[in-house]
Amino acid sequence: DAPLMRVAEAHRTYLARKRGTFNTYRHIQAVRGVSFDILPRENFGIVGESGCGKSTLTRLLAWLEAPDKGDIILGGVSLRTLSAQQLLAKRGEFQLLLQDPYNALPPRTTVGRMIEESLLIRGSHSGKALHERVIAAMQEVGLSPRLYDELPNALSTGERQRISIARALVLSPKLLILDETLSALDQREQAKLIELFSSLQEKNDLTYVFISHDLAMVRKVCTRIAVMYLGEMVEIADNHDLFFEPQHPYTKALLSAAPTLEEKPFDPQDYLLEGEPPSPIDIPPGCSFASRCPKAFARCRTETPALREYRPGSLAACHLLDIEAGEKSAAA
Ligand code: SF4
Ligand code: MG
Repeated sequence: DAPLMRVAEAHRTYLARKRGTFNTYRHIQAVRGVSFDILPRENFGIVGESGCGKSTLTRLLAWLEAPDKGDIILGGVSLRTLSAQQLLAKRGEFQLLLQDPYNALPPRTTVGRMIEESLLIRGSHSGKALHERVIAAMQEVGLSPRLYDELPNALSTGERQRISIARALVLSPKLLILDETLSALDQREQAKLIELFSSLQEKNDLTYVFISHDLAMVRKVCTRIAVMYLGEMVEIADNHDLFFEPQHPYTKALLSAAPTLEEKPFDPQDYLLEGEPPSPIDIPPGCSFASRCPKAFARCRTETPALREYRPGSLAACHLLDIEAGEKSAAA
């Protein structure tokens, strides 16, 4: 399959004023040369600790801001090359859903009107057709049409989540980017939304990106998962490899630290995650995980490991993989 979305060497740096100064600025390297493909109809997960660049990457994927370098290519079209008008038309195809849409929803606007607005901006429907499209979308996400004239404060978090899904759906998206969308929900409501996402996927050929800190949810839902550390991808693997045969020490440390994840394929005591990641203002040379890695050795502090495939479709960036590969070829 040709990728639905291709992220090609994306970089994003921010300027931040140095604390206690008026005119000294520093570069925060939030996303540092990230590349991956999202395939049609997959559930792609992005995980990592807070501060790893997930939020910035999310904004890049949703094209709320452009990368400084690199590009995002959707269905073969470089988003960089689009005019504002073309971009507005394209935006329906890939949309971002926020964790709790409550703050994003206007408090004095009714449910029906909110979903309508999504279509009105593009002028694609009017009159009776518009109303029917909105009702159909409400039913599709499991919202009773009786809620059409309600205000968002009368609704539960789960219902508000469904409004934002309906607002996205009326534009016939191909890709939904879900930023901690399930985090604010209780287990039962979460399970219901997962079921909804999967039935919408079947019906509408949808592709999802789940950005989340919840590894147990990601294990349940995602087909492939990327692990971010200090603005880079350190492992990108299919569900089985990531959870049962992870190769990167940081992935193992993350799994070890996840309280809700049972059956870990290694001794969590060997991968305790201690200390803080280095500052994204002052990135050390070599492997970015070296300062916290229980397996680090001399080469790790000078040479940056590249992502390499350790099983078909699964990649990790760690010098230990070179050593293992070397041992195998020496034994052969
Ligand atoms: Fe650890 Fe070295 Fe691998 Fe980095 S390259 S994860 S420091 S062993
Ligand atoms: Mg963040």
